Amino acid sequence: MSYSETSKIKQNKIKSKVVTLPNIQRITCPDCSNNKEFLEISDGVILTTRFIQNSDGSFSQELDDSQVLGQVKFYCGDCGADLTRFHKRFLEMLF
Ligand SMILES: [Zn+2]
Repeated sequence: MSYSETSKIKQNKIKSKVVTLPNIQRITCPDCSNNKEFLEISDGVILTTRFIQNSDGSFSQELDDSQVLGQVKFYCGDCGADLTRFHKRFLEMLF
């Protein structure tokens, strides 16, 4: 492969990286207009951690399994307004 071919491929790669952002609808608290800090509160969480005992008597953590039994609520981090109706959108935008 010649040098010019290689640079062509590189250019294509850069082009494909450009992503046009769709209309972003930011979650904003209707009470205090906060759009930065939010709280997610989970009810009735069972935390289960599985440990394996090694031959020398020490333990290794094998599995961390948490289970949410209750509701997951979503609040404004500023004034505490219940924004649970935006929670689905929050999960969609969580990376
Ligand atoms: Zn608020």
